[in-house]
Amino acid sequence: MGLSTACAAEPLPRFGLVLHGGAGVIERQNMPPGREAEIRQQLNEALAAGYQVLAKGGPAIEAVAATINVLEDSPLFNAGRGAVLNAAGQCELDASIMNGNTLAAGAVAGLQHIKNPINLARDVMTKSSHVMLIGEGAEQFAQSLGYALVPNEYFQTEFRREQLKKIQAREKAAQTGVRHTSDYFDRQSRWGTVGCAALDQQGNLAAGTSTGGMANKKYGRVGDAPIIGAGNYANNATCALSATGDGEYFMRLNVAHDVSAQMEYRGVPLHTAAAASIAKVGKLGGTGGVVAIDRQGNIAMEFNSLGMYRAAHLAGQPAFVAIYRDEKIPENFSR
Ligand code: ASP
Repeated sequence: MGLSTACAAEPLPRFGLVLHGGAGVIERQNMPPGREAEIRQQLNEALAAGYQVLAKGGPAIEAVAATINVLEDSPLFNAGRGAVLNAAGQCELDASIMNGNTLAAGAVAGLQHIKNPINLARDVMTKSSHVMLIGEGAEQFAQSLGYALVPNEYFQTEFRREQLKKIQAREKAAQTGVRHTSDYFDRQSRWGTVGCAALDQQGNLAAGTSTGGMANKKYGRVGDAPIIGAGNYANNATCALSATGDGEYFMRLNVAHDVSAQMEYRGVPLHTAAAASIAKVGKLGGTGGVVAIDRQGNIAMEFNSLGMYRAAHLAGQPAFVAIYRDEKIPENFSR
């Protein structure tokens, strides 16, 4: 038998990636017309950017960064451009990235002028001796590497300004006892973080998460996204995972590491571990979800909210993009 025939008969290696664009009160009846198609298209584009890296044999960490760059540049998600505003009307961005092969990690928090926070997180990982840099110090480090600083207005969109106004008006009204019905702005106020987990052809895992945090947050508030083990984790021995949701709960439960630890110490499958961790979040009163991939290429997309923007592409399978709770993950994603 010729070499080419032998190769053709072999099953495709199970590399792939999974991403999220935030979890929350996402329901068909509240989706503004046209918005759904736009979101699905952006999720597809981000998925393709990462998948291309993997298909060419590139490293998982690069696929994660490529995917997240697309989502950060899109005004539709709460990361990079289009991030939520803090109580002072500014965008403050957090991100982290982790390499499951080496357990190297990089994180940034409270950025106000870096266009793609995930890229700086990666540079903290590879070009500094630290894991996390924050605020002005992080931006100084970025400048020393040649990053251009962008004005904070670059991140701010009309949609987010309106959102902040409504949240603050509601907050004020609540203090005076007036109740308002919630609308699309309110309902979208907390979510939209982006994240990605990937498995490359060499069997290496990586994960990244990037966010503007929570709308109307206090200046200086940092959530789970840049906390290694809370909103992000990758370990070749177990899985790569990115979280989204109420950061304060994910931090207290160390969700990302909790999933990995269950797999490592108790040998439970990825999907079971992810479901157990999200159940803990719910029990404590939090909402959100995780996307994850393990070393065999099993995928989990677990959430306790009404919806989660999510997508995945495994080698040899069609890409999967979903928004609402009733869109079921293909069975062969989890073997
Ligand atoms: N987890 C993020 C945070 O708390 C928010 C989100 O996922 O939407 O900063």
